[in-house]
Amino acid sequence: MDGKYTIGVDAGGTKVAYCLFDQSGKPVDRLQHRTDTDADGVAFSDTVISVIERMLGKNGLSARDLNGIGIVMPSFLLFDRGYVCMTSAMTNICEFPMRDYIAQRINTKIVLDNDSNVAALAEHRYGAGRGARHMVYVSVSTGLGCGIVINGSVFRGSYGWAGECGHMLITPDEGLACGCRNRGCFMSYASGRYIVEHVKNRLARGDMSVLSQADVSGETIMAACHAGDAVAKDALRQFSHYLAVCVFNIYQLLNINLFVFGGGLTNCGEALFGAMREEFDRYNHVAQPVEFRFAQLGRDTGVIGAAELVKETDIV
Ligand SMILES: [Zn+2]
Repeated sequence: MDGKYTIGVDAGGTKVAYCLFDQSGKPVDRLQHRTDTDADGVAFSDTVISVIERMLGKNGLSARDLNGIGIVMPSFLLFDRGYVCMTSAMTNICEFPMRDYIAQRINTKIVLDNDSNVAALAEHRYGAGRGARHMVYVSVSTGLGCGIVINGSVFRGSYGWAGECGHMLITPDEGLACGCRNRGCFMSYASGRYIVEHVKNRLARGDMSVLSQADVSGETIMAACHAGDAVAKDALRQFSHYLAVCVFNIYQLLNINLFVFGGGLTNCGEALFGAMREEFDRYNHVAQPVEFRFAQLGRDTGVIGAAELVKETDIV
């Protein structure tokens, strides 16, 4: 482990970002490409390997110069084995020993973890959760998930997917079907993907809205909401309600008093999170402080957390 450099790879549903960090943690090179959502484990890993080899070559480095590579996946994965069980945005990546596959081609430490755990780690070490003993990071974006930090360490549970709050059931067997194959999980109400579906269902029923003339997306829903559109306002109200219930349930379960919110929909700001806070307070009847903060690291959260993962994880 004498290498000086670390590579963080953040694989999301739309793009895969790579960052090369030097010994002091400074980013020295970046690359990114669109996500091939049809790729299977082998195809995806082959792409990652070739991009990393190109990045190393371009910087006059080889695998010997690396401390390791951290890879963030939107997956259910067995953390200890770097084994991907299921991936929401890239459904063909399943039941695949990704760590071993990549390690055969690039001789360095490879660590894999899911996106919410890694974001929680990054925000706790360098962002909004610095110094906190316990913290819950909640990712509100295309999907919904959280990462849990207890006594300064990420809590992963028995297999690695502690914090999958988006798939906790709130209206079992009712509501929209989610990618997890259940109906009525929190994600099917409180996520970017499903708010769009709720609005489209209302429009299909013939409800009047400025959105019937528009391409329905998170952005157009927010714009319609600001313009006072009833369908958009209802959708956002429903979103903030279920998000508040989800956060409240996590608070009851873990009694952690710091929630850090990240992900693309934090751009909605007060329109979503102000309403969510009001809903949370409506259910919370014990007058002890519970802090809600926005994440601080932005787009780099994944790659920073991935590099941190390499530093903090011992591979056996
Ligand atoms: Zn689900």
